[in-house]
This record gives sequence, C-alpha cells and structure tokens, in this order.
Amino acid sequence: MALFKLENVEDLYEIGDLLGSGHFGQVREVRERATGILWAGKFLKLRKNASSRLGLERKSVEREVEILQALQHHNIMALRDVFESRAEVVLIVELISGGELFDFIAEKENLSENEAIEFIKQILQGVGFMHSKHIAHFDLKPENIMLSDKHVEHPHIKIIDFGLAQCLTPGEEYRSLCGTPQYIAPEVINYEPLSISADMWSIGVITYIMLSGMSPFQGDTDEETLRNIVGMNYEFEDLYFSQTSDMAKDFIQKLLLKDPNERMTAEECLLHPWIKPLTRKQAANRSRSSINMKNFKKFNAKRKWKMSYNMVWACNRLCRLQLLCKTSATQDQELRKCESDQEDTETKPASLIRRRLSSNS
Ligand code: AMP
Repeated sequence: MALFKLENVEDLYEIGDLLGSGHFGQVREVRERATGILWAGKFLKLRKNASSRLGLERKSVEREVEILQALQHHNIMALRDVFESRAEVVLIVELISGGELFDFIAEKENLSENEAIEFIKQILQGVGFMHSKHIAHFDLKPENIMLSDKHVEHPHIKIIDFGLAQCLTPGEEYRSLCGTPQYIAPEVINYEPLSISADMWSIGVITYIMLSGMSPFQGDTDEETLRNIVGMNYEFEDLYFSQTSDMAKDFIQKLLLKDPNERMTAEECLLHPWIKPLTRKQAANRSRSSINMKNFKKFNAKRKWKMSYNMVWACNRLCRLQLLCKTSATQDQELRKCESDQEDTETKPASLIRRRLSSNS
C-alpha cells in the first residue's frame, strides 16, 4: 500500500497555476520548495461520507495510486508523492508540459503516416507495458495522451489519467459502464466482462481519427454513437481516407473487432507491418501516405469547442444553483463539478449513461 503523507502539502510545495481539471478535482503546477523543481499536483476531493455522491471514495484514490506506482514507464506519467488531508488527496506527479498530442498535430501543416506512426508506437509501448502488468486504462482518448515537451525534434508521449484504470485479477470478472462514448468498446456498453482488449479498441478509434479527422462511430447523440458501436457501424469513406495506406486501414480493422479476443494485442500491433514494415514496398507505401490534415484540424477545433462549451454549460448551471441554494458547502461541491473534464460530447460521461443497448449485429 502506498504511503499517504499526512504533512501539509503546502509546507513542501508551492501551489501554482491551474493546468487542467478532472471529474473530481484540479491539476496545478507545483514547485518543490527544497529543490525548485516543478511538478504537477493532482488535487482529488474525497467523499465526505458513504451517502454523499460528490467526491471520490478513498479506496478508488488508493487504487489510482497503486496503479501509478506499478507503472514506471517512460510513456506513462510518473507518480512522485501522495499527501492526504481530511477532505483531499494530492498526488504529486511528473509535470507534462507539451500539451495534448492532438493539439500538437493540429498545429502542423501536414503529417505523414510515418510521423503519425512514431506517436502511435509510443502509445502502444506505454499501453503494452500497462497490459503486461494486467492493468487496463479504460479511458484512452485524445485528452489523455500528452507530450512531455513539444519543442523537441521527437516529442515524447505520456499517457495520463488512471482514474478509471483497473488491475485485472486473472479468473475474476470485471464489468463497468465507465468510459467516454466515442472511444468505448462494445463490451463496455453491453456490460460484459472486460479485459485489457477494451483499450485496444480505443487505440483503433484514436488511430482512425488521427488519420482521417473523422470519428468512426460518432452519432448526433451519445445514444446514437453507442448504437453505432454495438452495431459495428463504421467504414472508411473515400472522401476522408483517400490519402491513407491500405496497411493503416488493415491495422485499424484488426483493432475495431467486436470480439475482444480477436483484437490485436499491443505487442502484436507493434509487429504489424504498418508499424514495423517488413519489406521496402511496405515502408514506401506508408511514407507516401499522409493524414487528412484539413479534416483533422476541423475535428480538433470542434473537440476543443465542445470541451469549452461543456465547461460554460456547467458554469451556467452552477450560477443557477447558487441563486437557488446559497449554502457554501453546495457551492464548493458544485464548483468542483463545474471544473470537471467534461468530454467532447455535449452530454454526460458514459458512466452516467446507464442504458444497456442490445447488440444489433
Ligand atoms: P486528469 O484528471 O488526470 O484527467 O487531469 C485533468 C487535466 O489536467 C488533463 O486533461 C490535463 O490537461 C491536465 N494534467 C493532468 N495531469 C497533468 C500533468 N502531469 N502535467 C500537466 N498537466 C496535467
């Protein structure tokens, strides 16, 4: 079990600017007083009592901490320290200052498949390491794939947010309805036993988007998106995939498979000829192909807009609540909800979508 220090975090770290917000708290830049080194502090609000719906149960914070401790890998955010007070746990983690991978790509004029593969390879290496420890992330999506520094020649991928991650015990079934609609696998929606393969599905979706700027299952509503997923309703439209190599499509097809056991593992992905070409012809094919940058930029702008729209929507809701109910405790809790990392859909995270859709395939 991780040691949760009882000292006041502010005695050891100076708390700085806000870096981002999650479902249960904020992430801030912090400066270690003794060394001057910059870190990120993830401030997680704890649930006050069993009947409260706000904040996190201590045991789920313990789970996140234990998982991060087990995952020491150069493509995974590193944990340094943990502090606990009555209401909050603070994780001191490595500061990742290069922003999101998708924002970095969107700033470029063009990107070849070769360059995209360098990023996907690093995601696979991080996820492969995680899976070798029987840990599934269960929330792989563009917001959780960051770069340690975007100003270097070969930026380094860092996977973040292990809030939904689980260490899967062989022989024990694990089911969950959590995740983010666009990226979740059909078995999540169908409330079936989950495995590390659910992450491989999400990597298929992320790759599809990265190459085309289209989201394979996106519907007009979350419900439609979920129906498209369980119905395996996706295709490679020529309009968006004209610059994409056949090997890239083959790679995606071998991940977007309904049967989790049929999907490639991270190890197998790293050996797929799109990632590791075996012949000169294969290598030449992928260097001639490029990502659909015009459409990708559109996708990313819309994604960012929806994230800020959700934030404004939540803040407006907070203002209404404040007018209705003026207790400071409620204000405090709602403020935290307001700062949650609402996803790139206009509705709630999938954890709130407790409908079970029947498969129509
Ligand atoms: P999380 O709750 O872990 O999803 O974090 C919420 C947001 O905070 C993320 O979307 C990032 O923008 C930011 N963030 C999280 N961890 C870090 C980190 N280690 N360094 C810099 N920013 C971070």
